[in-house]
Amino acid sequence: MRGVVLHAPGDVRVEDRPDPTIIEPTDAIIRVTAACVCGSDLWPYRGVEKLDGPVAMGHEYVGVVEEVGSQVSTIRPGQFVVGSFWASDNTCEICRSGYQSACIHRLLMGTIGTQAEYARIPLADGTLVATPGMPDADLVPSLLAASDVLGTGWFATVAAQAGPGKTVAVVGDGAVGLCAVLAARQLGAERIIVMSRHAARQDLARRFGATDIVTERGDEGVARIKELTGGLGAHSVVEAVGTQESMTQAIGSTRPGGHMGFVGVSHDVSLPGDELFFSLVHLHGGPAPVRQYLPELIDLIWNRQIDPGQVFDLTVPLDQAAEAYRAMDERRAIKALLLP
Ligand SMILES: [Zn+2]
Repeated sequence: MRGVVLHAPGDVRVEDRPDPTIIEPTDAIIRVTAACVCGSDLWPYRGVEKLDGPVAMGHEYVGVVEEVGSQVSTIRPGQFVVGSFWASDNTCEICRSGYQSACIHRLLMGTIGTQAEYARIPLADGTLVATPGMPDADLVPSLLAASDVLGTGWFATVAAQAGPGKTVAVVGDGAVGLCAVLAARQLGAERIIVMSRHAARQDLARRFGATDIVTERGDEGVARIKELTGGLGAHSVVEAVGTQESMTQAIGSTRPGGHMGFVGVSHDVSLPGDELFFSLVHLHGGPAPVRQYLPELIDLIWNRQIDPGQVFDLTVPLDQAAEAYRAMDERRAIKALLLP
């Protein structure tokens, strides 16, 4: 099969890789209908994250089940499925508490590489959720978004306790930040402020429900959020970048007693204890337990109540994956969809 392999920073190739086979009796093999490039794939692509030799890439996927192992009982060949970027059993105590991304048997799908024609899905019964039927083609991008960016934005927004009467601020205008805007709207937030300097992303944020745009960053960005919230800061703040600047900005934008949900993969962030102490802010975040939200998100997409697939503003054949990475790296594309 064909699959994306990152050889070195900036060196993306589409190569022949071995066809996946059932290894564990709890595995399924899917034919990938659509995959995509994640903002987090850009960390190794840019050389920020260390790379040990060539690695298969990709952790977001939707597809059709081809084959299942002998112990798989609920997932069947022929089903269209969506799964999280963490494989999880969905039965252990941590999973049952809603934290499937910390499942005691978890496995990161990025170690398998779903930017490919086929993928092995471990713990298939726990990881995958089947759609009610074969989706119309126009629903596929939204279902793919549920696999990571929508689920991650959703978790951040829930962690930030967005809801009716609340003002939500979103730091980061990538696909996750934009999906957090959509989530905040769905959860009934009264006012949604997105921090963005990029015209196309501002437009999409407004379509997803943003009421205010803040273009300032750092201390000026914090001051602007305070100005918009009567000097108090937002009730709920989503951090969707993962840098020192974005974390500092997010904490500073949250009012005392407010909640901050952080889902940008943290890179070289250190928080000063004294500032944290005096902030009186609730912090909750980490790798999102997307699996917890999949049934609800699939339902909203299937019934055409939300259209998160709009985050994909570039679609290319799998063989042109290198261009997809370049476009995202250069911020020419918000998010690139790959068609195997
Ligand atoms: Zn588990």
